[in-house]
Amino acid sequence: LCLSVSLSPAVGSDGVRVMMESALTARDRVGVQDFVLLENHTSEVAFIENLRKRFKENLIYTYIGSVLVSVNPYKDLEIYTKQHMERYRGVNFYEVSPHIYAVSDNAYRSMRTERRDQCMLISGESGAGKTEASKKVLQYYAVTCPASEQVQTVKDRLLQSNPVLEAFGNAKTLRNDNSSRFGKYMDIQFDFRGAPVGGHILNYLLEKSRVVHQSHGERNFHIFYQLIEGGEEDLLRRLGLERNTQQYQYLVKVRMKEEGGSGNCPKVSSINDRSDWKLVRKALSVIGFSDDDVEELLNIIASVLHLGNVQFGGEDSGNAYITTDTQIKYLARLMSPLNQEQASSARDALSKAIYGRTFTWLVNKINDSLAFKDDSFSSKNASVIGLLDIYGFEVFQNNSFEQFCINYCNEKLQQLFIELTLKSEQEEYEAEGITWEPVQYFNNKIICDLVEEKFKGIISILDEECLRPGDASDITFLEKLEDTVGGHVHFLSHKLADGKTRKVMGRDEFRLLHYAGEVNYSVNGFLDKNNDLLFRNLKEVMCMSENKILTQCFDREELTDRKRPETTATQFKNSLAKLMEILMSKEPSYVRCIKPNDAKQAGRFDEVLIRHQVKYLGLMENLRVRRAGFAYRRRYEVFLQRYKSLCPDTWPNWDGRLVDGVSTLVKHLGYKPEEYKLGRSKIFIRFPKTLFATEDALEE
Ligand code: ATP
Ligand code: MG
Repeated sequence: LCLSVSLSPAVGSDGVRVMMESALTARDRVGVQDFVLLENHTSEVAFIENLRKRFKENLIYTYIGSVLVSVNPYKDLEIYTKQHMERYRGVNFYEVSPHIYAVSDNAYRSMRTERRDQCMLISGESGAGKTEASKKVLQYYAVTCPASEQVQTVKDRLLQSNPVLEAFGNAKTLRNDNSSRFGKYMDIQFDFRGAPVGGHILNYLLEKSRVVHQSHGERNFHIFYQLIEGGEEDLLRRLGLERNTQQYQYLVKVRMKEEGGSGNCPKVSSINDRSDWKLVRKALSVIGFSDDDVEELLNIIASVLHLGNVQFGGEDSGNAYITTDTQIKYLARLMSPLNQEQASSARDALSKAIYGRTFTWLVNKINDSLAFKDDSFSSKNASVIGLLDIYGFEVFQNNSFEQFCINYCNEKLQQLFIELTLKSEQEEYEAEGITWEPVQYFNNKIICDLVEEKFKGIISILDEECLRPGDASDITFLEKLEDTVGGHVHFLSHKLADGKTRKVMGRDEFRLLHYAGEVNYSVNGFLDKNNDLLFRNLKEVMCMSENKILTQCFDREELTDRKRPETTATQFKNSLAKLMEILMSKEPSYVRCIKPNDAKQAGRFDEVLIRHQVKYLGLMENLRVRRAGFAYRRRYEVFLQRYKSLCPDTWPNWDGRLVDGVSTLVKHLGYKPEEYKLGRSKIFIRFPKTLFATEDALEE
C-alpha cells in the first residue's frame, strides 16, 4: 500500500496503473529483494515483515546492497541445481534474484577482472547456516570454473575435505546437529585462467574438551560414532572395538557425579552415522590418504575410546590404581602417584592432547594434498578467494572457557564487519566525489578491548593467574577480574551485581555483555584449559609410540624445550589477529546468516529470535549506512545498458560519454535533481521509488 501511494504520481494512464498494480502485488507478496528498496528503511517492523514474506515463499536470500542476508530454511530447496548455477554465471548482481551463487560469482569476477584477492565472510549464530553456505560457494566454483583433468582432481579434493573435517571437527550440540567445533579459513587458489588449482586451510581452536566431556543432549565428535556404527567387522576387531557406543565412557556417560553431566545421545534423527562413515572413508581416499594412513588414524581414534575406559580406584594411601582389566600397565605406573581425581584428569588431558594434535595433523595432511602442484605457475601468482566459516556466537545454560573463546572470536568478526562496511561505504562516496553524512552506530571495539587488551584485558589477567605460583585458582582469577575490569560497562559479576541480577548469577560466574547478547561464563576450569598442560612423562610415552601420526604429533624437541608454551587464549588471540590481517588485505563479501527458530524446524519463523539476530548483526544499521545518502547505485555502463530502450536518444546505442548518456536518459525519464547524483563512474539514486518507476517502465 505504501509503495502504491508513493508511486502513484508516476502513473500516467490506466493501462500503466494496471501493469504496475500487478507488479506491486507480486512485490507485496514476496517483498523486496534488496532491503534498500524498503520504503520505510528505518523500521525494524518493515524489515522483519519483508524477511517473513520472503521466507514464506521459500525466498531465503535478500540483499542489503551487496551484503547477502540468508535465513536457514531447515529443508532442502530446489535452488542449488546445475541450472541455477548456470543462471548466475557471469550475470550482473542486480539482474537476478539474490542468491549465494550471485555473491560467489561476483567475488569470482572481481578477482578475475580487478586481480584483487577476495574473501567471503560468513557469519551468524550457531545453526544459522554458515557451514552450509560455505559448501554452496565451494560447489559453485567446482561446477562453474574451467577445468582440466588436473584441476578436476583439485576440485574433488577441495570438496572432499569438507566431510573429513566435519567428521573430526563437528558434533551435535543443543544448537545444531552438525555444529562446527573449530574455526576454518580456506583459501581457494586460482590460476590465470580462473581455474581452481590449489587450496589451503587454516584451522582455529578445536573444542577438544568435547572429547572427554559433553553436556546433556550433546555428542562427541561425529567420527567416533561413525567408526563404531559404520566400521567394517574386521576393522573393529583389529581396533578392539565393539559395535556399541554404550561401551565407551567418552560416548555414553555413566560417569561419576563429580565429573559432571552426561552426553548420552548416541543417535540423532538427522544424522546417519553409518552412511556418513562411507562418505568419510571415500573422501579420505580422494584426498590421498593411503590405507596405512587411515589405519593409523583410526588406531588413534580407537585408542582415545580405550583410554576413556581406563578407570581408577583409590588405595588407602590415597594413590590411584587402575581398576580396569587392561594391558596398559604403563598408565598405572605413570599415574599411580596421583590421587584418583588427578589420575582421571591426567587421562583426560592425554585424550584431549592426542585428539587435538591428530586434528591438526589431519588439516596439514589435507593441505599437502591441496597444495599447488603446477611447476609452470607459482602459488604466489595465484589469485585467491578465502572462505571463512567459524563457530557462531553461542549461549548455553552453562558457558565455559570454550564459549568465551568462540564468542570473543565473533566479536572480532563483527568488528571487522563494522570497520570494513563503514570504511568501504565512505571510500565509495569519496571516490565518486559525493558528499554524505556519516551514520553513528555501536562499535563493539570496546568489548574486544575488554577481552584482549594488553595488561588489563581478561585474557591478560587469565594468563597472569596461570603463571602465578601458589594459590592461584579459578576463583582468584574471578576476583582479579572484579578488581581490574569490574567497572567496565560490559562486565558484571555476582559481587558487583545489583539485587535483581544477583539471583541469576552464580558466585563462580562473570557476565559479558556481548554485542550479540549477555552471556554468563562459569570460571570453573578456566585456568586448566588455558594452561592446557600435559604431564611430561605422558608426552614421553607418546613420543615413543610406533604410530607414525603420533610421532609427528608429539615431537621429541618439545621435551627438551624449556620455554613455557603460550597459553591457549593467547595463542587464539594471536591467531585471530593474523586472521584479521589476512581478511583486511582482501576485498570482502558478506553473508549474514539468520536462524529462524530454535527447534531446527522448517517453516517456523520465530519473530522474537529473528528480531534479536537482526539487531545484533547490526542489519538495521547496515541498511541505514547503505541508505544514508543513496539507496541505489549503478555503474554508468550497466545502468545505460539496462534502461537505454526507455529513451529515443540513447536507443539503440549511445555514442558519447557514458555520463552524458545517463544524464540524457534520466532527464527524459523525468528524474528530479534531488533524486539522483552523478559520480565519477556511477549514478546514485536517492529513493527506491525512483528506481521502481524506471523498472516498471521497462517492464511495460
Ligand atoms: P555452527 O556455528 O554451529 O557451526 P552453522 O551456522 O555452521 O552453525 P550449519 O551447520 O551450516 O550451521 O546449518 C545447520 C543446519 O541447518 C544444517 O545441518 C542444515 O540442516 C540446515 N541448513 C542450513 N542452511 C541450509 C540451506 N541453505 N538449505 C537447507 N538446509 C540448511
Ligand atoms: Mg558450522
